Amino acid sequence: MATIRQFGYQVSKDRQIDYDNNSRNLIRKVLEKEPSLNNCISCGTCAATCSAALYTDFSLRRLILLVRRGETESLKKETAKCMLCGKCQLVCPRGVSTRHLILQIRYQLQESGQKTEF
Ligand code: SF4
Ligand code: SF4
Repeated sequence: MATIRQFGYQVSKDRQIDYDNNSRNLIRKVLEKEPSLNNCISCGTCAATCSAALYTDFSLRRLILLVRRGETESLKKETAKCMLCGKCQLVCPRGVSTRHLILQIRYQLQESGQKTEF
């Protein structure tokens, strides 16, 4: 009987983004209050200089992508990691008002009834 060799590879978890079922409510409300979000080009400069990233796996770039995709479930824990130090705002090449953006995401999550950890 042939033995199956284990090479340490496995099938990756499905990462399909279901835009049809994802809600656009959060980004709509956040954009009303912080339209500079539209200027974000996902360059990652904010994530590269982030104070919270020194101690956690927080990435503002990823947070913005999740908000744009309408994947709001994982935002609960993510937003709590930001220390609101404002470094990202100083380096953003597109002038995104990042601190206000993060505060708005937190606020809108609370308003929508999602339990947040801050
Ligand atoms: S630095 Fe500004 S433009 Fe670049 S990913 Fe961050 S928020 Fe977006
Ligand atoms: S305000 Fe938040 S996202 Fe921006 S650099 Fe500070 S900890 Fe990172």
